[in-house]
Amino acid sequence: MLNVFSDDIAIDLGTVNTLVHVKGRGVVVDEPSVVAVRSRAGVREVLAVGSRALEILGRTPENVETIWPMRDGVIADFVATEEMLRRFIKTTKSRFGFRRPRILICVPAGATPVERRAVYETAVSAGSRKVYLIEEPVAAALGCELPIDGPAGSMVVDIGGGTTDVAVLSLGGVLQARSLRCAGNAMDEAIIRFIRREYGLLIGESNAERIKIEAGSALINDHDRHVEIHIRGRGMKNRRPKSLVLGPSDIAQALEGPVSDMADFFQRVLDDLPGEVFLDIRDKGIALTGGGACLSGLDVALERLVDVKFHIPQEPTRCVVRGSAQVLDELDYREHLLIRG
Ligand code: ADP
Ligand code: MG
Repeated sequence: MLNVFSDDIAIDLGTVNTLVHVKGRGVVVDEPSVVAVRSRAGVREVLAVGSRALEILGRTPENVETIWPMRDGVIADFVATEEMLRRFIKTTKSRFGFRRPRILICVPAGATPVERRAVYETAVSAGSRKVYLIEEPVAAALGCELPIDGPAGSMVVDIGGGTTDVAVLSLGGVLQARSLRCAGNAMDEAIIRFIRREYGLLIGESNAERIKIEAGSALINDHDRHVEIHIRGRGMKNRRPKSLVLGPSDIAQALEGPVSDMADFFQRVLDDLPGEVFLDIRDKGIALTGGGACLSGLDVALERLVDVKFHIPQEPTRCVVRGSAQVLDELDYREHLLIRG
């Protein structure tokens, strides 16, 4: 009987990472949003999802490829996204013996009605008592404990892989929720372009992401980051292996474009707010969450461009899933934050 009241699952279906939170247990899944598929005679078969999908890559004799079904957009590959979500739900259900849980899933603020519907239907068909949807940045605001119930406005920015999402809340309601398709992946692409243009070296996406994480910065003079990174790639002219050593200020130059695109986006959101709400946010600052928040100096760089303080909460990549779990827990008076599936 006890289980009936605690089979609540909150899911952060991110373009790069998916997190699952179970009431009373905390975060029980934190895995890449990836699917391993085998194609035979034009038929695709999903072999594994998440970390397991990366593990089997290159370890099986068959022709297996990995798909990041949401990487290039909100949902670039519907079938693979549904299969991935279904498997994460099934694993969680069987691990905790849930029969028909209530499931709350977050979607980016810019998700289309078709995309929302696909996520909703998948969760319904994976076996649930009730499915709810919420916009990611709204969940993030709760997850990083912003005082959203008070009269003063609060703003949160969530920088993921595919999208940067913003929400402004006050009196427990949403004033704005918007999304920009420029985030971590766009930073990786900017690094690829920069290294090709400045050094005539060709590198791939995962190499670019590694460079960003290990030696990246948003500040040309980052006093907190002293590291050199060895980069291997192919020469543009002769395609021969070539290597190069770069530091944080080089990467900061590469990232100038995406960082200023994000700042412009935040500026537009701020410009559209009622005057009093803008003043509240200027006083309190903006919370910065998501994997992108981990880029060294990003808070300082954004603050210089937007002229409002940014602060990074504890565990910035878990705010969305934690906030979603809280909404599910307080559904009685948070129902108005949900969106339609
Ligand atoms: P999503 O919600 O879209 O799944 P996440 O919030 O998990 O995305 O963030 C993933 C993004 O954060 C990726 O683009 C990844 O490269 C980036 N990221 C993770 N750690 C760092 C870091 N230390 N520095 C810069 N970017 C990072
Ligand atoms: Mg996210």
